[in-house]
Amino acid sequence: MEQQLNAIRQEALSSIEKSKKTEEIEEIRIKVLGRKGLLTGILRSLANLSPEEKTAIGKLANEIKEEIENAIEKRLADIESSLFDEIIKSEWIDVTLNPPLSLRERKPGFIHPISKTQYEIENILTSMGFIILDGPEAESEYYNFEALNIPKHHPARDMQDTFWTEDGNLLRTHTSAIQIRGMEKLTPPFRIMAPGRVFRYEATDASHEHTFYQVEGMMVDKDISVAHLIYVMKEVLSGVFKREVKVRLRPGYFPFVEPGFELDFGCLICGGEGCRVCKNSGWIEFLGCGLVHPNVLKAGNIDPEIWSGFAFGMGLNRLIMMQAGINDIRHFMSGDIRFVQQF
Ligand SMILES: [Zn+2]
Repeated sequence: MEQQLNAIRQEALSSIEKSKKTEEIEEIRIKVLGRKGLLTGILRSLANLSPEEKTAIGKLANEIKEEIENAIEKRLADIESSLFDEIIKSEWIDVTLNPPLSLRERKPGFIHPISKTQYEIENILTSMGFIILDGPEAESEYYNFEALNIPKHHPARDMQDTFWTEDGNLLRTHTSAIQIRGMEKLTPPFRIMAPGRVFRYEATDASHEHTFYQVEGMMVDKDISVAHLIYVMKEVLSGVFKREVKVRLRPGYFPFVEPGFELDFGCLICGGEGCRVCKNSGWIEFLGCGLVHPNVLKAGNIDPEIWSGFAFGMGLNRLIMMQAGINDIRHFMSGDIRFVQQF
């Protein structure tokens, strides 16, 4: 039994010495000193021994127990202090070093100029009570043409070169399609705006793109007149350009409005005196607008005898080109980061 005890002692002390983690030491403690531990087992079996043996073995066992307990305590203290040394060694920072390459190359992102201006216009119009609507980019012929007073074989369909899908639908050629969807859902009076991408089957050049951005606006109420339209357009343009902007209307033809207008704004480059940008006219052609055609109101289930409205559709690309002096519409979708960075 003495031999057994010495073996336990040797084994325990050597594994304590070798252990590197507090968890390992805890395992040894349980294995040797725990309630079902090796040493505990021996102490329990003393009952079967003679009184002399009991005294001798009991003394030895208690000595070994104490020795192991001390060794455990000492080893735990050593491990703790070596952990601290390791932290000191690993967790220091050389402030003279350059940051790692991955951090140095990280650059802030940019909001695309189209989104930026779109958000600005959304803020201005929503502050005037317009709500923002969305609609599908792939539209039916009904919403894009028919309901907007552009029936089949109407010459106005030729004005807009269209991408058709194989199943007879199309990519919307203007955000006006959302007008009808809005009228179907809402009861007058209401003010809606709808920003979005539109598509034209067109050869691209400096002033033509197959994909560009519009913001549609529509207000339906009782006794809406051209004066309301002019007021809202002036507010939007003055808000975008951050200064007073003059607007004027010229007669224009769009099937979904009657009367229809082309809206120009006073050239901000020359202040109206005439320059290259405004082709010496002092005015910039900007958008199509007008009072909503009774047929369009009817298509949206609105009684034109009671309600009237105005609508406009502005091109965002054109607005930003004017604002920032951009001479080629194709820059917007070029994916060239240098272009976006300027804004
Ligand atoms: Zn000018």
